Amino acid sequence: MTQTQASPAKRTKALVDTLEDLGLLPDGTIDQLIHDYEEEINWRNGAKVVARAWTDLAYRERLFSDGTAACAEMGFEGVQGEYIVALECLPDIHHVVVCTQCSCTAWPVLGLPPNWYKSPEYRARVVRNSRQVLHEMGLDLAKEVNIRVWDTTAETRYIVIPLQPANTIGWKEAALVEVVSREAMFGIAQIVVPER
Ligand code: FE
Repeated sequence: MTQTQASPAKRTKALVDTLEDLGLLPDGTIDQLIHDYEEEINWRNGAKVVARAWTDLAYRERLFSDGTAACAEMGFEGVQGEYIVALECLPDIHHVVVCTQCSCTAWPVLGLPPNWYKSPEYRARVVRNSRQVLHEMGLDLAKEVNIRVWDTTAETRYIVIPLQPANTIGWKEAALVEVVSREAMFGIAQIVVPER
């Protein structure tokens, strides 16, 4: 006998109904979760961490010595952020993040993972052929730049702190937040700000 699989929407509804019937889902839980992950818990938090690391040397030092505490200091903590490690890009060292087993990200600062990050192709290839994969994703690094690939394991979650573009030195933190991209905090892009 063949079994047809219900659509994701139907399965989700069945799960929610069951949890409600059992009294395990207080009113408003789902709406609150959707609100939280759409509005509060996303990569824009990470952009604030990056901008502060670029402008506040003491914060930068705290961030690289204890990423979890430095993110929590800005209010970014919680599930999938129990052990955050910030990776410092240098002119000759570039960091890129992957989860070869699945799709783990540091939710409090990066939010839920983007689709490309979850793809089997990225997860398999970036480890073995990182320079080529970065090229295909639009990032060409000079030969002299060493690439370090960080595989997310157990509870460790990474955030890449990209190089600050030279033409933004002296900018206010709030303006810098706006130039940080999600891709740069995974290490598949650098921050480039066109001259105005
Ligand atoms: Fe994972």
